[in-house]
Amino acid sequence: MAVMAVIVAGGSGIRAGGSLPKQYQLIGGKPVIRWTLEAFLSHPMITGVQAVIGHGHEALFEAATLGLNNLLQPVVGGGTRQDSCRAGLEACLALNPTKVLIHDAARPFLSPELIRNIVNELDYAPAVIPGLPVADTMKFAPSGLIERTVDRSSLWFVQTPQGFQFGEILDAHQRAMTEGKNTFTDDAAVAEFAGMKVQIVAGEQKNRKLTTSHDIAEADREHGVRLYERLPDVRTGQGIDYHVFEKGDHVWLCGVKVPHTHGLKGHSDADVALHAVTDAILGAIGEADIGQHFPPTDRQWKGAPSSIFVAKAMELLRARGGMLANIDITILAEAPRVGPHLAAMKLALTSLLGIALDRIAIKATTTEKMGAIGRKEGMSAHAIATVRLPL
Ligand code: MG
Repeated sequence: MAVMAVIVAGGSGIRAGGSLPKQYQLIGGKPVIRWTLEAFLSHPMITGVQAVIGHGHEALFEAATLGLNNLLQPVVGGGTRQDSCRAGLEACLALNPTKVLIHDAARPFLSPELIRNIVNELDYAPAVIPGLPVADTMKFAPSGLIERTVDRSSLWFVQTPQGFQFGEILDAHQRAMTEGKNTFTDDAAVAEFAGMKVQIVAGEQKNRKLTTSHDIAEADREHGVRLYERLPDVRTGQGIDYHVFEKGDHVWLCGVKVPHTHGLKGHSDADVALHAVTDAILGAIGEADIGQHFPPTDRQWKGAPSSIFVAKAMELLRARGGMLANIDITILAEAPRVGPHLAAMKLALTSLLGIALDRIAIKATTTEKMGAIGRKEGMSAHAIATVRLPL
């Protein structure tokens, strides 16, 4: 009794604005489509998840779904939503499903109960879709002038996932294509065209479709509030690192190559700032320091980019269900001057750490020529990380 989910993500999402199609924009640092896919992948009643993506979105999809297990290879959709749905259904044929749920990628916040309800109701009906009763008064006004008030008692706003007996909805889609009917805006309309009986069950307010950039920003803000409430255990960690100068023409700082009269000596790329960041994050979660996780005696870290150390610290933090709240870095050096590279460094850190720019501070200071750093024998970096963990 295979139950497939087809996730339709073919739209170019132009209405949502921004540089990314809306299904790839971030809510709480996670692409919209990943929220949606996870809702189905984690549901015990769903056998397989088939995504339908837009032409040219292959790389975006791959980046957005990195590490998601059990996801089928996506198919590229057609020119209309209807074409995309049909492509998704045809891709499911090999798994011989009995039921299928077709869902918009831009509705990431459906509940597991809604999925369960629709799958169960399909035991009694060939087509089951969620809907919300219309609460506002409806007017019929084709030219802007009201002709009459519409009786709203039998009207519904409908949502997805829309559930169907697999064979029947695939037939309906193929018949619609053969007969040149290609303007249906949802799968229930395709089912109605084919004469299937479509049952409405209770939808959910939170299962709304994210349409504009405002919708996505609002969802991002709401998610932030919920996330912070779930992570009340606030902890701070400190990281301090030193490296001496040696022959060379550049140093690495926060993942950015900075031209200099010397290089920094170290087993890896000697990015003193990223080493301090790594130790600060490790310190905040009570972990052993960078040298324990990446022993300098281990040849595999020779010349390695220090971003992998930070990534490891972030992985340990996330494995505990935590998140990084902010990072504050101070670089101590007489030279090179860090100022001209600060913007690039912050940008590199925002991708590496997955936090917003306003949660990252990088400062630089000299030691007024005092001590070893004042004598330009090397540089140092200090970092403080604040993390939030579940209790
Ligand atoms: Mg170091």
